[in-house]
Amino acid sequence: MPHVPDVAVVGAGPAGLAAAVQAAEAGLGVALIDTAGQPGGQYWRHYDENHARPNDPAGHHGWPAFTRLRDRMYALRAAGRIRYLPGHQAWLITREESGAFTLQMTATTAAAGGTDRTLSARALILCPGGYDRQLPLPGWDLPGVMTAGGVQALLKGHRTPAGRRVVVAGTGPFLLPVATGLARAGVTVAAVVEANGTLGWLRHPVGAISAPGKGVEALQYAALMARHRIPYRTRTVIREILGTDRVEAVRIARVDRDGRPAGPDEEMAADVVALGWGFTPSLELPLMLGAETAQDVDGSLVVTVDDRQRSSVEGLYVAGEATGVGGAALAVHEGRLSALALAAELGRPADPAAMRRLRRAVRRGRRFAAAMHRTYPVPRAWPQWLSETTPVCRCEEVSYGDLRRAHDDLGAEDARTLKMFARPGMGWCQGRVCGFATAGIAACLHGRETTPEDLRSLATRSLAVPVPLGELAALAEGTTPAEATGTEWRGRDGD
Ligand SMILES: Cc1cc2nc3c(=O)[nH]c(=O)nc-3n(C[C@H](O)[C@H](O)[C@H](O)COP(=O)(O)OP(=O)(O)OC[C@H]3O[C@@H](n4cnc5c(N)ncnc54)[C@H](O)[C@@H]3O)c2cc1C
Repeated sequence: MPHVPDVAVVGAGPAGLAAAVQAAEAGLGVALIDTAGQPGGQYWRHYDENHARPNDPAGHHGWPAFTRLRDRMYALRAAGRIRYLPGHQAWLITREESGAFTLQMTATTAAAGGTDRTLSARALILCPGGYDRQLPLPGWDLPGVMTAGGVQALLKGHRTPAGRRVVVAGTGPFLLPVATGLARAGVTVAAVVEANGTLGWLRHPVGAISAPGKGVEALQYAALMARHRIPYRTRTVIREILGTDRVEAVRIARVDRDGRPAGPDEEMAADVVALGWGFTPSLELPLMLGAETAQDVDGSLVVTVDDRQRSSVEGLYVAGEATGVGGAALAVHEGRLSALALAAELGRPADPAAMRRLRRAVRRGRRFAAAMHRTYPVPRAWPQWLSETTPVCRCEEVSYGDLRRAHDDLGAEDARTLKMFARPGMGWCQGRVCGFATAGIAACLHGRETTPEDLRSLATRSLAVPVPLGELAALAEGTTPAEATGTEWRGRDGD
């Protein structure tokens, strides 16, 4: 591989893995960077490969697709065509005068400790995926409240059920694999509490039939839900999570289409609550490079790309959830398409028929995703569930009342001004958890819809993730982090 690879792919989930393999097979020199210690991303997250049985499926859908991609990636690495950097997190990307991109990386595992922290590449394919979208509600800061994705990650990655009696709540099809995964692990799932109805798909028939495989998956989950006798409560939300030192119960109620209470409250015992309101694309890296964004059907900010996955920044391709949440199959198509488009641009042979097929598959996937988002929207009236004392930003301890006062008394009319006056999104997570909610509250307080600008002001960060001071010092001084701090560098996990 050339000293400067043709392309750096960030993310080894479905999109990034597919992109890296396709790019290398098209003759490009590839560097593949991923925070995790092993490939797979969120969808194919799995137990430590050093300890699992070979090809242990761990209940994953599409597992053979993963093992095929993974094995091709390992073969290309062995042939010197992919430089795979697991346990590396890109935290800063800059553009050189030559047009090359330079990535600064921090190690997230002890195994990655000794390798280089800086990497340059002629082009970039960003596939950073997304994370759980959260909405605050009274009691959501009690120990025992988790994101649905976090519960799933514990189960898939560590084979550890999060609790003994769990309520899974929010909206969208993702609640089903979480609930059935828990039930299969012996956990009592007290209920799946779904804010929307089930008939929404009927209003979007074209989108619904665009991904027939998803229909089969849904039937499999329905059968599992029935087998494990998991109650599925539609048009219902958790109004409050109850407990003294940790979760003890939830108060649920039926709601109307907009999420306004439409029935009496009911109490349900639980020791863990798993909350999921869809996913938020990870946009730190593309925003850092100035990529254009727009608001997707689900209300999230996404990177805008053309029909070759090219962003508005020359040489920057984006694939997977960062261009809109749409599932693993779509992410794979986008990853492959971005790699073939880049190969063509760099003068390598790229089968035009394959590119046409991929473009069609991406269009179908996007139609399905749009139907899914319209079927499972975040209810418009959700800010009405909050009390004055409900924490919205947990890092900076900013309550809904603080935000309301910043609006009513100080005239903060948009998310950016709310952030400046009341400090939501200014703590450790830099708005990753409360960003979507703060943007929604800003809009609701002012009686309007959320705008892309509300979302952008809470999504833009100077550094993608918090990094040790030694990494910053090393950047300024051109030394290694260990030299900068005078200490032996250790992985973030302290190993
Ligand atoms: C917690 C969670 C659980 C999910 N579970 C399911 C499920 O069970 N079933 C389902 O159908 N869908 C699930 N989804 C949705 C599913 O993840 C996506 O549809 C699919 O995985 C998207 O693929 P992707 O490649 O775009 O992103 P991901 O699979 O999210 O992969 C992105 C990769 O990029 C890496 N990355 C991000 N930022 C950086 C950085 N700065 N530097 C280096 N690496 C970086 C991440 O570590 C990750 O490995 C889940 C999503 C989340 C967030």
